[in-house]
Amino acid sequence: MSKPQTHAFQTEISQLLDLMINSLYSQKEIFLRELISNSSDAIDKRRFEALTNAALLNDEEELAVTITTDKDANILTINDNGIGMSHDEVIDNIGTIARSGTKKFMQALEANKDGGDDVNLIGQFGVGFYSVFMVADKVSVLTRRAGADQAVLWESDGKGEFTISEANKDSVGTSISLHLREDETEYLDDFRLKHIINKYSEHISLPIKMLGAAPLDDEGNPIEDAEPEFETVNTGTALWARSKSEISDEEYQNFYQGLSYDMEPPLSTLHHKVEGNMEYTSLLFIPRKAPFDLWNRENKKGIKLYVRRVFIMDDAEHLMPNYLRFVKGVIDSQDLPLNVSREILQSDRDIQKIKARAVKRVLDELKRIAKDDAEAFQGFWGEFGQVIKEGIVEDTGNKDNITPLLRFASTENGNDEQSTSLDQYVERMSDEQDAIYYITAESYQAAKGSPHLEMFAKKGIEVLLLTDPVDEWLVNSLMEHNEKPLKSVTKGDLELSDEEKKEQEEAKAELSDVTEKLTEVLSESVKEVRLTNRLTESPACLVADETDPGANLERIMKAMGQDAPSSKPILELNPEHAIIKQLDADSDSFADWAQVLFDQAALSEGAQIKDPANYVKLVNKLLVS
Ligand code: ADP
Repeated sequence: MSKPQTHAFQTEISQLLDLMINSLYSQKEIFLRELISNSSDAIDKRRFEALTNAALLNDEEELAVTITTDKDANILTINDNGIGMSHDEVIDNIGTIARSGTKKFMQALEANKDGGDDVNLIGQFGVGFYSVFMVADKVSVLTRRAGADQAVLWESDGKGEFTISEANKDSVGTSISLHLREDETEYLDDFRLKHIINKYSEHISLPIKMLGAAPLDDEGNPIEDAEPEFETVNTGTALWARSKSEISDEEYQNFYQGLSYDMEPPLSTLHHKVEGNMEYTSLLFIPRKAPFDLWNRENKKGIKLYVRRVFIMDDAEHLMPNYLRFVKGVIDSQDLPLNVSREILQSDRDIQKIKARAVKRVLDELKRIAKDDAEAFQGFWGEFGQVIKEGIVEDTGNKDNITPLLRFASTENGNDEQSTSLDQYVERMSDEQDAIYYITAESYQAAKGSPHLEMFAKKGIEVLLLTDPVDEWLVNSLMEHNEKPLKSVTKGDLELSDEEKKEQEEAKAELSDVTEKLTEVLSESVKEVRLTNRLTESPACLVADETDPGANLERIMKAMGQDAPSSKPILELNPEHAIIKQLDADSDSFADWAQVLFDQAALSEGAQIKDPANYVKLVNKLLVS
C-alpha cells in the first residue's frame, strides 16, 4: 500500500477547527447528533443510488448506525453502512471544501463578530463533522464507497493537517473513531450515549444500535464467552408516520429542532395524513423566530421530500413558495415514483396539488392565529412580515388568503409597529373617503414627517406608512381592498371640494408669474410647478405624476443596482405659506429661493439632495439678506 499523504486543511476549516478545539461550549454532546445525522444522510444516499443501481445494496443487509466504545483505549466509534466515500470524496468533503453546514456557521460567526457569544452559535447550526474536535484529540475516518473494493483512512488531530492512506475495510460504509480527550470520557458511558441519542436523534428513521448488557444465565450470572448483542436504542420509525395522538409535544419539538436547529418551540405544528386518490403525510412547522439565513435566496432547503419513507431530496422550492420559505417540515408521498427528479417535480401535477394544499394549510393557520391570538401573530409578523408581503406579488392565486395577514404602520397607530390590517383601516374610514391612502418612504420617520401628510392630518384621514422595500411592489399588485383603491398620497391630484377649487383658482391667478418663473428656473429638475392644498405647514413638496414610479421606488431600484427610469417630479407650492407669499419673480434672489425650495422639498421626504454644500451656502445667503 502507498504511503499516507498529508494535506493541509482549507483556511476556513482550520479556523473552525481552532474554535472547536478551544471551545468552552457546554453542549459538546451535539457532536453525536452531527455524526448520526451524517450517517443517516449517507444511508439515505445509498438507498437512493440503489434505486438505479441495485448492486449497491443487498436485500439482506440491515441499514443501521452502530455505536461502540473501547473504554480502555478511550475510543468511541460511530459506524454506518451508508454510501461511504471514495478517496477524492474524502479529500473534498472533509478538509478541503467547506460544506454547507460549515459555511453557514462561519458566515454567522462573521455576522456575529461584534456580538461576542461565538460558542452559543454552535448549538444553532449544523456545524457538521468538525464538531468532533470539541471532544476528541484524534479522529480517524475509515470509509469504503458502495461499489468500490478499496477503502480509505483519513486521520487528523485537527491541527492544521490531515493524512489520507489506502486501507482495508470488510463492508461498505463509514466508521468514525474518536479518541476522546481525557476530560471528555463521559462519552464512553452507555447510559450517557443513549440519553443523547434519545434527545437528538430519536426521530431518525433508522435503527441506531448499541451493544446491550452481557447476557446472563437463569441465575443472573454472566454466561462465559457469550458476547453481548446489539440492541436498537431509538424508536427508529419516522415520527410523521406515527399517529398524531401518540406523539407528545416534546417529540414534535425535538423533531423540529433536528430540522431547524431552532431552540424555541415552533409557533405551530401542522400534521396531516391525507388519504384517497393521492396519499401523503405532511408535517409542517411554522417557526417563531426568523433564521439567520432568511434572506439568503440560494437556500432552498426546509421541506424534505420522502417517498414511502425513503428520503428523496431537501428541496423547499417545489414544495413551498418563496414567501413561505421559513416553513420547515416533511412531506412523505405514497404515490410518487422513487426515482422522481427535480425536473419531474417541477411539472408533476400531484406535487403541485400537494404544494397548493400545504400552502393553504399554512395560510389558514396564520389566519387562525391572527384571529385568536393577536399578540402571537404580531410577534410572527415582526419576524416574517416582510417575507409574507412578497406573497402578494408572487402568489396572486392566494391574494385573498394573504391579504388578511398584512399589517402596516399607520398614522393612527402612534408608533412604528406594523399592526394595522386593511380591514381595520377600512372600518375606520369615513363615508366620504373612497380610497385607502398610503405613503412609501425610506424610514418610519421620513414617512411620518412627510409634508404630504399635512392635509390628511388636518382632514383626519388615516394614512398607511409603508417603509419596507417590498411595499412598493405590494401596493402595485394589491391595487385595492374591499373595492377601495390604494392611493399614494404623493401621486396625482387631490380631490377637492367646490369651495377649495374656487380658492385654488384665485391663488393660481395671483401666483401665476411665480409658478411660471419657477418652472423655467427649475426646468432641469422638475416637470412642472403648481399650487397645492396638500400642505398646511410646509412651503413646498414633491409629487410624482400619476403614472410615474415615484422617488422611493427609484431609490430602491438604484440601491438594487437596477436601472431606474428617472422621471422628474412635480413641485407643489403651498399658496398659504409666508415664503411663497413673499416670492417675487423679479427679484435678484429668485433663483436662489427656487433652488432652496426644491432642495427642502426633497429633504423633507427623506431624499438626498444633489449638492448639499451649495444648499447650505444658499440658505446662509438668504438668511442674512
Ligand atoms: P454537511 O453535513 O453540512 O454537509 P459535514 O462537515 O458534516 O457537513 O460533512 C461533510 C460531508 O462529508 C458530507 O456532506 C458528506 O458528503 C460527507 N460525510 C460526512 N459523514 C459521512 C458519512 N458518515 N458517510 C458518508 N459521507 C459522509
